Amino acid sequence: MAPHESAAFYDHDRDLADDVTDISDSANVVSINKSAQPSRSEAEEAVKTLISYTGEDADRSGVLETPKRVVKAFDEWFGGYQIDVDAVLAKTFDEVDGYQDMVLLKDIPFHSHCEHHMAPIIGKAHVAYMPRGRVVGISKLARVVDAFARRFQIQERMTEEVAKAIERVLEPLGVAVVIEAEHHCMTTRGINTHDTVMHTKHLSGAFREDSDLRREFFDALR
Ligand SMILES: [Zn+2]
Repeated sequence: MAPHESAAFYDHDRDLADDVTDISDSANVVSINKSAQPSRSEAEEAVKTLISYTGEDADRSGVLETPKRVVKAFDEWFGGYQIDVDAVLAKTFDEVDGYQDMVLLKDIPFHSHCEHHMAPIIGKAHVAYMPRGRVVGISKLARVVDAFARRFQIQERMTEEVAKAIERVLEPLGVAVVIEAEHHCMTTRGINTHDTVMHTKHLSGAFREDSDLRREFFDALR
């Protein structure tokens, strides 16, 4: 067997099939069982165990403070569970002076983590909607992407969650979300998968029914 044909080849599809994930469960409901949530020191202890698992000396001075730093980083990477997405989108502006065209926020950078390996998903999102009389501050769209990114994710569900939140709160005539991202569980483990980018999209309402609008949206992403 040639080295590049080794068993280390990473089959992402098979990997995903092993972990059946229900992507229909995409409402903005965050249910954390607080009593089941470990303490900070328990979390730090768990990180220390993982360090030891690699063969590293977890008491070596260079890594002694690492568990603390990792848990602190987790607070940031997974801080999305603390964000109420509906509240972020709740403040809207009715005074749009007759504006009735597509609103598009392009190239929203995000960092997420795949729920299968806790490996980074790095990418950008493009979010558009057709307002029905009211609009939201444009920075809020980026906030919504950030809130869902900073959770355990699969890209397909994140795409749905961003779109569904906008549909639910703004009740627009249509929503379009495109996400393109690099999955580090694939690009750092597989062979010949470097720079592989995954694309997902969600189109609803006017973006599904009106081919001119759909074309305008995809043209704008080029
Ligand atoms: Zn993964």
